[in-house]
Amino acid sequence: MEKEILKKYKKAGEISIKIKEFARTLLKEGALLVDIADKIEDKIIELGGKPAFPANISINEFAAHSIPRFKEQTVLTKNDLVTVDVGIQIDGFIADTAFSYSIGKSEENEKLIAASEAALNAALKLAKPDTEIRELGKAIANEITSAGFQPIKNLTGHMVGEYNLHMGLRIPNYDNGDDRILEKDMVLAIEPFATSGEGIVVEGKSAEIFKLEKKGVVRTGREILAHIIKNYKTLPFAKRWLVKKFGLLKTNLFLKEALAKEILKDYNVLREKTGKKVSQAEHTVIVAEKPIITTK
Ligand code: MN
Ligand code: MN
Repeated sequence: MEKEILKKYKKAGEISIKIKEFARTLLKEGALLVDIADKIEDKIIELGGKPAFPANISINEFAAHSIPRFKEQTVLTKNDLVTVDVGIQIDGFIADTAFSYSIGKSEENEKLIAASEAALNAALKLAKPDTEIRELGKAIANEITSAGFQPIKNLTGHMVGEYNLHMGLRIPNYDNGDDRILEKDMVLAIEPFATSGEGIVVEGKSAEIFKLEKKGVVRTGREILAHIIKNYKTLPFAKRWLVKKFGLLKTNLFLKEALAKEILKDYNVLREKTGKKVSQAEHTVIVAEKPIITTK
């Protein structure tokens, strides 16, 4: 990998480590999710990075694409299993990392957290050239099932590229038979999810997360589209961010038109099918004989 690019991946990773430490100090009973997300996103900028996607804060059965909406009033409550998933980018080079945390003492929460972390550590050790993709999934599933839980099978890790959060290979959370091999310098986000439920996520309501899908022209909110192209490029962003800058009415009109014209893609919240709790652990790693974990 080019030295300058490696430097940017590492800087994004270093910021992510500080952000995770900072995030832990915010996770308290009674804390508003929207405040936590705002503070995390502001801190990323303060530390010299940019959010690569909105700070995800998922509680209990919510597994992914879960961000607080504009003025949402949800707070953390005792026994919540909360997952913070953050993305930091430096000139489009991304660190994607997540951890789960228990609000108050809970044996179930702590076991779920330990299971996804053990699974992640097992997979990271295999992030070397010539490892078959399926081996990562097999190691993840082994750790999680031996702890008495299920991995989420329809969520995966992924390759990361410049301004590209999910590209190329998917890293499964079970042995899916994919015998393609890892190559040196591939950048992977590995993200096992452990659940006491069935291990399948289903789509819920709109997550209020969007992403630019193709070029196009809108009649309402041309300046919003220009702002997206300039600042987020092809990375995901929150409706909340647009509302703060452009107001609710204009943002709503713009989103409606841009979605209808398929200029934007929207995401729905993903929750565990049986409503059981989910934990997640994620690191970004550069494939090498000695894997380079940028977010640890
Ligand atoms: Mn992530
Ligand atoms: Mn990821």
